[in-house]
Amino acid sequence: MTMASIELSLTEEQRALRAGVLEICKRYPAEYWRDLDTRREYPEKFVTELTQAGYLAVLIPQEYGGAGLGIREAGLILETINYSGGNAAACHAQMYIMGTVLRHGSEEQKRRYLPKIATGELRLQAFGVTEPNSGSDTTKLQTTAVRKGDRYVVNGQKIFISRVLQSDLMLLLARTTPVDQVKRKTDGLSVFLFDIRKLKGLEVRPLRMMMNHSTNALFFDNMEIPAESLVGVEGRGFSYILDGMNAERILVASDSLGDTRWFIEKAVAYSNQRVIFGRPIGANQGVQFAIAKAHVALEAARLMRDKAAALFEAGEPCGGEANMAKYLGAEAAWEAGNACIDCHGGYGYAEEYDVERKFRECRLYKTAPINNNLILAYVGEHVLGMPRSY
Ligand SMILES: Cc1cc2nc3c(=O)[nH]c(=O)nc-3n(C[C@H](O)[C@H](O)[C@H](O)COP(=O)(O)OP(=O)(O)OC[C@H]3O[C@@H](n4cnc5c(N)ncnc54)[C@H](O)[C@@H]3O)c2cc1C
Repeated sequence: MTMASIELSLTEEQRALRAGVLEICKRYPAEYWRDLDTRREYPEKFVTELTQAGYLAVLIPQEYGGAGLGIREAGLILETINYSGGNAAACHAQMYIMGTVLRHGSEEQKRRYLPKIATGELRLQAFGVTEPNSGSDTTKLQTTAVRKGDRYVVNGQKIFISRVLQSDLMLLLARTTPVDQVKRKTDGLSVFLFDIRKLKGLEVRPLRMMMNHSTNALFFDNMEIPAESLVGVEGRGFSYILDGMNAERILVASDSLGDTRWFIEKAVAYSNQRVIFGRPIGANQGVQFAIAKAHVALEAARLMRDKAAALFEAGEPCGGEANMAKYLGAEAAWEAGNACIDCHGGYGYAEEYDVERKFRECRLYKTAPINNNLILAYVGEHVLGMPRSY
C-alpha cells in the first residue's frame, strides 16, 4: 500500500451517496438542531429517517441486511451530516458498535441482531466502557460479570455512557476474571451484547453535558443478563474492543472534518460580508490568516483520514494513521471553530448563529472516545518506538 492508492476524488457512487445524505440533511435545518440542543433531546426523527434510508447500515455486510460498503463511504456520510450543520454523534455510534459482533460474535448472534440493526428495528448505540475510577486506563475497570448457571450477574458502574435511553441493545465491557488472577491485565475482560429494555438491576442517570449528547451514568446492581450475551470467548474482550478502534478513529475523524468545513465556510462568508472600518473584516490578515490556517489543517487532516481509510479497506495495519487522522481532525475542527467564533465577534456567542453550538460539539473529539494526549502517546510508542509513558 502506497500513497498512490489513495483515491483523491470521489467515485460516481460516492457522489450519489453524499447527495442523498445532503438531501435528507436539508430537511433538518439549523433550527432543528438548535431546538434539540436547548432541550438536550435526541435527534429521533433525523436518526430514524437516516436509518430507514439505509445510511447507518453501510458497514453491515449485505448478507446481514446492510449495504456492505466501506469505511470511506461511512466517513463520507458522517462528514456530510456535520458539514450540513447537524451532529452525527448518534450516527457514528450506530455504524461502528455493531462491528464487535460482526467480527467476534457467533453466527447465531449475527443472524439475530445484525439484520434488525440494519433496518432500525433494534437500535445499538450504547457502548459501555468508561468508569469513574479507571477513565482512560480501561484494564482497571471494576465492573464485574460473574457467571451463575445460564446467566451473568453484573455489578459496578459506568460513567459518560451515551444514548442508553435511546438504544434497545448495549455492548458492555466488564471484568469476568479478577485482575489478580490473570497473567496480563488485558486478560479477563469480556464483551456482552444484550437487550436493555425492561432489564432489572440497571439504573440510568442522565447527565447534562456541555453539548447535546444523551450521556448517562449507569449503575449495575445484580443485573442479570443471559449467558448467551457473551460475545466471542470469555476473557478476550479487551482485544475485541481494540480491534474496533481503527474504524472508530476514522469515523470520528470524519465527524471532525465535517465540522471543520462547516466552520470555514461560515467564517469565510461572514468575513467577506461584514464591513468594519470601511472594509470587509476578511481583508485583515489577523482575520484571514486564522481561517486560512484552519483550511490548511483541514486539507492535511483529510489526506490522513483518506490514507487511514485506504489502508483499512486494504486490510493493512493502520493504527498510526487512524490515530493521527483522529488527532488531526479534532485539532483542525478546534482551530476552525476558534477562527469562526473570533471572526464573528459577539455574534459568535449568539445561539441563533449556531457557531457556539458547533464549537461546543466539536470540542468533544479532542477528549473522546480517546483524548489527544493518548493519541500522541500511541504515536510515540508504536510509530516512533519510544518508551511507553503510562
Ligand atoms: C460527551 C461524552 C460522551 C461519552 N460517551 C461515552 C460512551 O458512550 N461510552 C464510553 O465508554 N465512554 C464515553 N465517554 C467517555 C470518554 O471516552 C472518556 O471521557 C475519555 O476516554 C477519557 O476518560 P476520563 O474522562 O476518565 O479522563 P481521564 O482518563 O481521567 O483523563 C483525564 C485527562 O488526563 C490526561 N491524561 C490521562 N492519562 C494520561 C497519560 N497517560 N498521558 C497524558 N495525558 C493523560 C488526558 O488529557 C485526559 O483528557 C464519553 C465522554 C463524553 C465527554
